[in-house]
Formats: sequence, C-alpha cells, structure tokens
Amino acid sequence: MEPLTPDRSAVLAWFEPRRLAYPWRRTREPYRVLVSEVMLQQTQAARVEGAYRRFLRRFPSLRALAAAPRREVLVAWDGLGYNRRAVALAEAARRIVREHGGRVPREPAALRTLPGVGPYTAAAVASIAFGVPVAAVDTNVRRVVSRALGGAEDLGSARVRELAQAWLDPTDPGGWNQALMDLGRELCRPTPRCEACPLRPVCRAVLSGPAHAPHHPRRAEPFEGSMRQVRGAVVRALRVRPSATVPELAAVVGEPEERVREAVRRLAAEGILEHRGARVRLAS
Ligand code: SF4
Repeated sequence: MEPLTPDRSAVLAWFEPRRLAYPWRRTREPYRVLVSEVMLQQTQAARVEGAYRRFLRRFPSLRALAAAPRREVLVAWDGLGYNRRAVALAEAARRIVREHGGRVPREPAALRTLPGVGPYTAAAVASIAFGVPVAAVDTNVRRVVSRALGGAEDLGSARVRELAQAWLDPTDPGGWNQALMDLGRELCRPTPRCEACPLRPVCRAVLSGPAHAPHHPRRAEPFEGSMRQVRGAVVRALRVRPSATVPELAAVVGEPEERVREAVRRLAAEGILEHRGARVRLAS
C-alpha cells in the first residue's frame, strides 16, 4: 500500500533552484522573515521584491520600524496594496519591543497574538526563522495536500492540517513549507498543471482517474472598479500630499465623491487615515 505521505525528494529536487530565488530566502533573520511574510500575504512575490528591499533600507531593524510614525510606514508600503498590513506590521513591531524585549517570538502561539499575524504567517515565521517543526498551511498548500494526499479538491481544514504536519520535513521545516507553497502557487493551481508536477506519479487526485482529476478554476474578484481600487488610489494620493478634503480626493482619483467618502470612512476605521476637520491625511 502507498504510504499516506509520499517521499519528499521529488518535491525538494523541484524546489532546489527556487530555494534562494528571493532576497527573503537568503536570510533567517526573524524581523526580515516577518516583514516578507506579511508582504507576501496578499501580494505576488515578484511585486514584493523591490518593496521589500526599499522597506528594509528605510527600516533596517525591528526597533527602527517600531519607532517610526505610521505615516512613514504607509509611505514605505507603496506598491504593495492592502495598506492595513502596514499598520498591523508597525503595531506588531511596537508590541514585540514592549512585550518581547525587541526579539520576534519563536513560538507560533506567541506569534499569533501579534497584529496581522494569523496561523499561517505564525507557522511560516516560526518554521523559516527558527526551524520550529510546524506546517504552514495557506490556500496553496491546502490545495496540494488535499489533492496529492487526499485525492480530493478540499479535505477540510482539520484533516489538511493533520496531513500537512505528518508530511513536514523535520530536518528543514521552513524549506519544506516554502517548497509546498511554491508548488501550490506555480503548479497545483485551481486549474492544475499536473504534467509538470513532481508529485504526479504519486498524486492521489491523478491516480484516481479523470473523473476525480481536479479542475476548479477560481473566479477572481475583478479589481477594476472595486472599492479596493478606490481605497488604493486614495492612499496613493495622500502619500504625496500632506492632506486633502474628500472633494479634492475625488477629483484626483477620478471617482464619485460618495465612493471616495466610503473609502475614506473604511480607511479611517482601520487606522490608515485620520481626520483633521474636513481634511484627511495618512495616520500619524
Ligand atoms: S499532480 Fe496535479 S493535482 Fe497532483 S499535486 Fe501535482 S499539480 Fe496538484
């Protein structure tokens, strides 16, 4: 009978040329790993690369980030989108200085208490920076594990976690987590590219035949015309001017005033903007 978790060597051989492909993969320094994992939460690696270098030039240490005004952090976040991550990362840095003596905590449970750090990011930081043997399961890894080990499109969170943990490479948990993330992002996509996949000879979804072969393209929410686009445009406009009124912002971003007002309301609620009378600006 096939073992439940197949041999890892084919995946590791596939991952080898990718192992040092990005600047954050050439360090285990916990602050840098934390910054990269927060940036990678909702942004593609290719777009993160330049922003990561710029951000670390501006805030080379966790203490430098913790001491920075929020506005400067938001300005340095330029190009990444989802600006609330910048606010959360800056607050996490302050909490680490206050509560952990300026050292990023090692344990996933402690990492999870930080703003903007969920179970996936906590496991990624713990495994990559500290070698803690914990599986990091994001949607990409969940797809790989469900299909390759379960033969199903989605096994459910608890079972996926259990299998991912059993499959983990105890000698290099961070490297293994990154290998599965890459495999899920590049090959085991919603519409998978099984012909190029190192797991194909052992993948249960493939072995169970065409009727079970995965083919579930996900429909992405369009960015064009979305509230996310308006919010991004408002933050960009405020990066290059000290403050503005809603009508001024509406003119700059080319959106109706009520949509801009709604974007401003949400951004202020998340601590990204602040009001000064009728004017708004990036939070200080
Ligand atoms: S063979 Fe196909 S379904 Fe199986 S893990 Fe690879 S890409 Fe995913």
